[in-house]
Amino acid sequence: MDKKIISLIVPAYNEEEVIEIFYQRTKGVFNELPAYDFEVLFINDGSKDNTLEVLKNLFIEDRRYGYISLARNYGKEIAMAAGFDHVTGDAVIIIDVDLQDPPELIIDMIAKWEEGYEDVYAQRLSRDGETWLKKWTSKMFYRILARMTKVEIQKDTGDFRLLSRNALDALKQYRESERYTKGLFSLIGFKKIAIPYHRDPRAAGTTKWNYFKLVNLAIEGVTSFTTAPLKIASFIGVILALFSFVFMLIIIFKTLVYGDPVQGYPSMISIVLFLGGIQLLSLGIIGEYIGRTFLETKNRPLYFIGEMSLNNNIEAIKKEPNYIKEITK
Ligand code: UDP
Ligand code: MG
Repeated sequence: MDKKIISLIVPAYNEEEVIEIFYQRTKGVFNELPAYDFEVLFINDGSKDNTLEVLKNLFIEDRRYGYISLARNYGKEIAMAAGFDHVTGDAVIIIDVDLQDPPELIIDMIAKWEEGYEDVYAQRLSRDGETWLKKWTSKMFYRILARMTKVEIQKDTGDFRLLSRNALDALKQYRESERYTKGLFSLIGFKKIAIPYHRDPRAAGTTKWNYFKLVNLAIEGVTSFTTAPLKIASFIGVILALFSFVFMLIIIFKTLVYGDPVQGYPSMISIVLFLGGIQLLSLGIIGEYIGRTFLETKNRPLYFIGEMSLNNNIEAIKKEPNYIKEITK
């Protein structure tokens, strides 16, 4: 009987230092699971260092480790989408190359998948090697997002997870270019279960995230799932209008009864500035949505592939002498 195939999607951007360690760790895990065939698909996301060369050499050494090289840097969200399109497995696991997602967890994930779960996601109990500010902001963000949206987004969960073929085929149908994949996992539904784990620090190299990127991803997260901010703008508008009306009555009353025409410069200027601020904020919110509509209606292709390894497909690999050598080692 044919073994089930597990595919790993591994986005990599300037990761030349960690690929070898990643290879050793994952290979060890694969050896512990002889009942399955594994294929690894690195997505080289337009790296500027030697990542592509390292990946090519690895592919020569072990045919299970193939790669797709995107035409430029698209960001992790698009890199994952490219992975979704090209894996062939019965189940697929998304994992970071920096070993912050411990590959050993794959064993538990597969066990849960065999029990019938279609989306087995890893849930962080701790995050070593990250600043308290990053932990705190990320916690607050998920809390606010959960309040605003109707879809339930899993807490303390990254992209590290196993998806069944069914769930993956559903996910592949979302072709939006402004992507927030963490939310898409929730949108598709399917039977989900969490596996708790401790998030390790990076094995080597540096994080590709900075606060600017994180804020952008956060805005992406909110705007791609809910129009609640638009309602907040109208809500503030209504409250302010009511408030102004009462204030206007007071002023008219005061002018008629006491007749003091030119007083009130400080209150006037603060009201004008305050309202100006609120208006700009609302315009900004509306602008975010219009901008996204604009980008989405252009309907551009998600990504282009520069080059890719051939035969990163288990049937083809089996015919390779290299593969046999690897397995018997
Ligand atoms: N990554 C990517 N494209 C990018 C940025 C990051 O493919 O533009 C990959 C990166 O190589 C890594 C994963 O996404 O495998 C997570 O990135 P990183 O470790 O820098 O983020 P963090 O774990 O600090 O959130
Ligand atoms: Mg990382």
